[in-house]
Parts: sequence; C-alpha cells; structure tokens
Amino acid sequence: MREQIFTFGQYLSEKFGTKVSKVPVSISGFTCPNIDGTVAKGGCTFCENDSFSPSLDKVKPLKGFFLNLDSQENPHLEQQLQQLEWQFNALSKKLTLENDTQKYLVYFQSFTNTYAPLSTLKALYEKALTFDNVVGLSIGTRSDSIGDETFKYLGELSKRTEIWIEFGIQSIFDETLVKINRGHDSQNVKAAIVKAKEHGLNVCGHLIFGLPGENREMMLQTAYAAYDLGIDSVKYHPLYVVKRTALANEYARGEFTPISEELYLDVLSEALKAKPPHVSVQRITAGIDDESLIAPQWCRDKNKQVRVINQALKAIGLKY
Ligand code: SF4
Repeated sequence: MREQIFTFGQYLSEKFGTKVSKVPVSISGFTCPNIDGTVAKGGCTFCENDSFSPSLDKVKPLKGFFLNLDSQENPHLEQQLQQLEWQFNALSKKLTLENDTQKYLVYFQSFTNTYAPLSTLKALYEKALTFDNVVGLSIGTRSDSIGDETFKYLGELSKRTEIWIEFGIQSIFDETLVKINRGHDSQNVKAAIVKAKEHGLNVCGHLIFGLPGENREMMLQTAYAAYDLGIDSVKYHPLYVVKRTALANEYARGEFTPISEELYLDVLSEALKAKPPHVSVQRITAGIDDESLIAPQWCRDKNKQVRVINQALKAIGLKY
C-alpha cells in the first residue's frame, strides 16, 4: 500500500471543506530588487525577467513605471486594482469550469510582491480579499524585500483570513547563492522565515535541485534545513536552462551541466522521505514545453515527469 504524499490541495480542502485553487495574478509596476539594481542587476542567473511580464490584455501597460520599498507615491494604483480584478475574474471563471473549484486563494506570483509601499500592498491585498469566494492570499516574495511593517500588517490580516508567504530559499549554501546572483545570503532567508512564523504566517519554501556546483548531499542539506526552519509547505524544482538568461550563456560555454533526471528522482525521493508529514507539497517538479527551453530535455513534459516521479516513488512506498 502506497502512502499518499500530503499535498497543498489536500490541506486546503481539509481546511475549507471544498476544493480551493490558487489564482495567479501578475501586477504591472512590480519588479524585483535583484533586477532593478537595488541589490543587483540582471536577476538570478536562471530568471528570464521578461517571462514575468504580466498579461496586459485589456489593461494598458504601465510603461517604465516600477515600484520599490521607497516609492512615495503610486499614481497607477487604480489601474493596478483594475488589472487585479480583471485577472482574477478571468482566471477564477476558467478554474471553476475546468476543475469545479468553489473557493480561491489569490496568488500574487510574478516578481516580488511585497516590494512596494505598504499603502499599495494593503490596497491590492484587501481588494483581492473582497472578491467572491476568496479565502485568502498567497504572496510570492524575496526574503530581503519584506519590511517589519509589512510583516506586522500581514500578521494582523492572518487573524481573519488565510495568509501564505512564499520565499525562494533555493539553496542554503551561500557559495551557490553567489553563483546564481541571488543577491541575498541564506541567513537572510532563515531570518525572514523565523519572522514570518513569529507573526503567525504560513510559509511555503521554494527549493531548487541542480544548482551550479551542488552535489546530492548539498541539495538534501537544503531540504533538511528548510524543514528545520519550520516551513509549512514546499515546492521542489529542478533547475532548467531557458533562453535569454545568464545561465544559458554559462551552459553554452560548458560551465553548467543540468541535473540528470535520475539524480533529480533520487534527491526528490530522499527529500520527500525526510519531509515532516504536516508539510504540504505544492509542486514536485517544473518545466517548460516551448522554444525557450534549452536543457535538460526531460524538463519539457511535466505530465511525463510526474508519471516518472510516481514510478520512482513506488520504490519508497509513496505516491503523489
Ligand atoms: S528573485 Fe525571482 S524575480 Fe527576482 S531575479 Fe530572482 S527569480 Fe527573478
């Protein structure tokens, strides 16, 4: 008998008594301090910055307008709120038709969604919470881009609704974080997770297996450290190379070798075995099936990857 891995979907349906889906939204004017030059330029070496450009159908792009933590004014807030509403309505309708979803978490996904003045964040988060059948928020951000004020505000908000913060942990090894131009060290992520937990927030940690220079032991050390920090949910990703990134140049020069599918299956299986049972899993792999993928080719077909992963998990009595 294979044991079902505890998924985020299970967590949500147990908590809310019905199917709940995340509705990803992408708001113009948000950027990342690793792209705008505040901590670095160019972003993480694997990040195709353009791929984060929001879908702007029906909404005029906010050309050249970017927020940061010191922005004093936001003349485009009204447009951002409209964009949020339009995206939510379109995607939630689709999810209901496709998956019979009854309730939603609004997922602020692209870029760094706490990297703006608190007044803008409050307006967007609270607008999202007024949409029909929304039970909470999930906010993707960087550990170096969330101030004490925002932590405090979200801590208060979490007393009346479900609040998740998603941090890119990626690796706990500083030498790796330097290699990928992450712009912060592992201590910064650790401190942010501790602070989020102190404010009563739910934390999802993103981990990447196959980062430059990392061996099996290092990847597992990152997973163990993330569990020890008290994350409540996890996303596991293999590192893949896409066009128009610094990593693509490293790959072309022969300086980076992508993780093999065999090693990914091995590390993932070990990481899942060691995962505390209450930590829900939101993602076990990632990939992209278009012309932008350079390598490895096994990251192209996500459905196939999940089938292969499930096959590998049989050996340890788990299923996803
Ligand atoms: S932190 Fe995220 S958005 Fe910013 S450069 Fe890295 S991957 Fe891209």
